[in-house]
This record gives sequence, structure tokens and C-alpha cells, in this order.
Amino acid sequence: MGPSSRVELARVTGASRATIGGIVQPLIDQGILAEGDVVPANRTGGKPATKLWFSKEAKPICAVRLMHDRVHTCLVTLEGEIYAQHDVDLAKDLTDVADALQIVSACVEKSIASTHQPVLGIGVAVANELNPQTGSIAAMDLAPHLHGFAIEAELAKRFGVPACVDQDTRALLVGDRWFGQGRGQRNFAVVYIGQSLGAALYVDGHPYRAAGGKHCQIGHTIVQLNGQMCRCGRRGCWETIATLRWLRGEAKARGLPNPGSLDVSRMVWLAETGVKGAKELLEDYASNISVGLANLQQLMAPNCITLHGDIVRGGKLILDLIGESVRQLMVNPAGNEIALALGDQEDVAGLRGAAGLVICELLNFMI
Ligand SMILES: [Zn+2]
Repeated sequence: MGPSSRVELARVTGASRATIGGIVQPLIDQGILAEGDVVPANRTGGKPATKLWFSKEAKPICAVRLMHDRVHTCLVTLEGEIYAQHDVDLAKDLTDVADALQIVSACVEKSIASTHQPVLGIGVAVANELNPQTGSIAAMDLAPHLHGFAIEAELAKRFGVPACVDQDTRALLVGDRWFGQGRGQRNFAVVYIGQSLGAALYVDGHPYRAAGGKHCQIGHTIVQLNGQMCRCGRRGCWETIATLRWLRGEAKARGLPNPGSLDVSRMVWLAETGVKGAKELLEDYASNISVGLANLQQLMAPNCITLHGDIVRGGKLILDLIGESVRQLMVNPAGNEIALALGDQEDVAGLRGAAGLVICELLNFMI
């Protein structure tokens, strides 16, 4: 939801007006929320109400994306504007968590140094599993030296502000909820399609978290019995046919140029310039992606799905191909409409998502 009155917040959250008043007043006092437009009294006798939204003067959030080989930090305003970006590679020969903390902290420090006021908090999106109880990294396939990295506690201690860490797909979800196409939606999903495949869901006004705090493993839902071998050790997972790995392997098998570095942006360009076989491969990729999206829609009916990751760079052409294919797979497509959209460019979406984690923490009465 966007700017809302206290009455609307009470209705959406199910809390009493007095409770909402007690929650929002400290946020106004801290300069996080501000009172805006006044909604006139209605004819049924309701009182005039003031809309609340993020204050333009609010302090920024420090956002961090921690990948297996890189850390990217910036400041994000509560309106989603990104600035003070810094980006450092994590050396392949890194062996110690303490060294990783040093590198991440130095990068955070540089972004924070760009503002003269303290930040509201530090949000961290991590590319892999987390221990949701401790905020530490449980496993990072490509960076075993980060295993056990208690990043949430370490950053909070070092910088003296709240730190919120979550898995990157869930960060994309909350980023979309506050800054993107999920705003105002009670149900929506994000699906990340690139080197890997992941999804997260917003269900009935809340970000869904599976039992034990795990995130869902939609990439390993089986879509082809006896299909290709997956890295998880089973066959036919959606991930085996709907990531860049499949696209590159297939491009090689079909004789397309430079398959090893292929991405969806170049794939679209090859198709548009009439390179033999490119259009067919792009259509097959879209079709493979649509199988999992249709399954997701049939199972949870989020009705709105935003695609993130490399796929965003395919633009309208890939979105139209996927949309057409999804609709062909839907049962009773009329009345079971699905709105598909592309998210922001990958870095922007990831950083806004990391910032969104802090907003969720600040406004946790709303989620
Ligand atoms: Zn698998």
C-alpha cells in the first residue's frame, strides 16, 4: 500500500486505531514517517484523516548485496533513490570469515561516509541460505569460506545500528513490495531467472516464510520426468531447463555464436537480427520458463508475478513470449488472469531489496 491513514492501517493490519497510533507516533517523531494529504470527512460521518507516508527528510538506509565473489553497497532513500555505491570483489583465495567481514565493513563504511547523518539501518541481501535464527550464512555453494559468517550481528555491533539480513530472493520480494510492482498488492510473487532460479511469495499481505524459516526451492520442482540431471542430484528440475546454463548449453548444441557468454540480452539481439536458430531457441527458453510460472500460478495463484535477474534484460520481446506461453498452459485462463512484469535492472532491484528488509523491520506491524 502507498500513503495511508491511521484508519486504513488499522483496517489492513487488524489492529485497533489506538494501537496503530501508538506505533506510528514514534516513527513520526523519528522522522521516518510524515503526515501528508488530508482526506476529507466522508458522508457517513467519518472524521477527516491524514495520510502517512515516508518522510522526504528521513535518514537513508545502507543496502548491501553479498554475492560469492563481490560485495556491493549503497545508500537508499525511503523513496528508493540509490546513491553512494561502492563495489569490491571478494578474492577467490579468501579463507577466513574475519577477512570477509573486514572487506564488507570497509565497503559499508565508504557508503555511510557519504552522508552526514546516521543511517536508519543496514539491510543485507545474501546470495544463498541463511540461518534465520542467527542471521548468519548457513551455506554458500561457491564461497565455503563465508559459511557461518554472522553478518547480521557483526554489522550491527560494528556500526551501532539495526542490521537485517535475508536471502536475496526474499529481499527482491520486499524491495518490490515497497518500491516496485508489489506496492499495494496483497498477493504477488517474484521469480529470479539468471544463473540460478528462485522465487518468493507475498501471501495475503505478508511475505511467506516456509517452515523452519527456509525459502522455497521452486527451482527444484520437477517439470520433466527423467529429464536432465540437476546439480541437486535428481533429474528434470525446472532449474535444468530455465537458467542461463541451459540457454548456453543449448546454444552450443545448436551452433549459435559464442554460446559460453550468452545472456538473454544478446539472445534477443541475435533473434532480432535474424541469426539462424536464434528465434527458435529464445522461444524454447521462454516456453521452459513458462512451465514453472504456470505451476506457481496454479498452486498459489499470486496473479502478479515479477521477473528478476538476467531475464529483465530481454525486455518486451522475452516478456511477451513468456506471457503467451504461460497463458497457453493455464487452466481456465479466463478469470485466472496473470499479470507478468519485468523488475528493475538487477543491481537496482537487489539494492532496493536489501533496503526493503530494513523498512520491513521498522514497520513490522504492517507485514
Ligand atoms: Zn534440482
